[in-house]
Amino acid sequence: MDVDGVISLFGFQGALALPGAFHTIDGIPHCIGHDSGGRVKRLHEAFEMVWATGWEEKANEYLPLLLDLPERDYHVLSFDGRATWGSAHWKLDAIDEYAGSRPAAWVDDNLDEECEGWAARREAPTLLVRTEPATGISDEHVERLLDFARRHAGT
Ligand SMILES: [Mg+2]
Repeated sequence: MDVDGVISLFGFQGALALPGAFHTIDGIPHCIGHDSGGRVKRLHEAFEMVWATGWEEKANEYLPLLLDLPERDYHVLSFDGRATWGSAHWKLDAIDEYAGSRPAAWVDDNLDEECEGWAARREAPTLLVRTEPATGISDEHVERLLDFARRHAGT
């Protein structure tokens, strides 16, 4: 699960109908999407949730409490300083290593051709879910994820 563009939103127009509420995280204001917590929570019954974000450890520091998630200490992928704003391919090695031969779903606003190539090459079932950074994770994304999990449970 990525954070920027999925849970922390940006690029939306106007201030009258904000898609979330602003929270100061590490001194920086972030617009945390309305009900992004509820949506991530719905995935818990079917998935092991893992942070795949440039936030790294900060994701656990702030988000489980802020989003009222059922756990406080999720696995965090680390990227050894490779994080680059506006792209996601630098996450591939860490995601690939952690997923191993298991089915995997990746939610991110920056999935590019490299990510698609990786998903296509995997032997295990793989789902890429691309979000819009202005709206983030939606109910429709959650339904797609749960459907993927149902189809591949036990594989
Ligand atoms: Mg992102």
